Amino acid sequence: MSWRIAIVGRPNVGKSTLFNRLTGRRRALVDDTPGLTRDRREGAGKLYDLRFTLIDTSDSLMGRMREQSMRAVADCDLALFVIDARDGITPQDEHFARLLRKAGKPTLVLANKAESNKTDYAVAEAAGLGLGQALAISAEHGDGLSDLHSVLRPMAPEGCIVE
Ligand code: GDP
Repeated sequence: MSWRIAIVGRPNVGKSTLFNRLTGRRRALVDDTPGLTRDRREGAGKLYDLRFTLIDTSDSLMGRMREQSMRAVADCDLALFVIDARDGITPQDEHFARLLRKAGKPTLVLANKAESNKTDYAVAEAAGLGLGQALAISAEHGDGLSDLHSVLRPMAPEGCIVE
């Protein structure tokens, strides 16, 4: 069976970077031409012994991205909600948090860009989003991935852990 994990969050928090890291892809060329439909990206994700289908909801147009995100969340088993640890919680993050709480899907908050050590505040602040404790990661540098693995592994459906 497939374990569907959606990556959601406002623009520029690092969703595509995380998608690329977990699918082993290179940075995709993002087409920012307004009005051009960019298909929701899906890929085979891998984190140590875990296998899953990863859905990226990045889009240059905020409205379209929100719509896409909600569809992806409705259709996933788990949402990875990415925030930018350097910015702290923004009103847009709060908006996404509300939508995610309403959707009621298991959600893991990832405080990305946490390679600097000035991001503890954002991680603490993220607890106030009502979606549980945030995990500090750096999608670009690959930090925090073993912590992510530790949290994800107990949630993995049968067949999504390989020997
Ligand atoms: P998206 O719009 O949420 O998909 O964000 P992107 O993946 O396109 O990333 C937005 C910007 O943040 C890019 O310039 C990335 O290189 C940068 N970025 C992503 N992850 C990290 C990270 O872990 N640390 C830092 N410092 N920058 C990052």
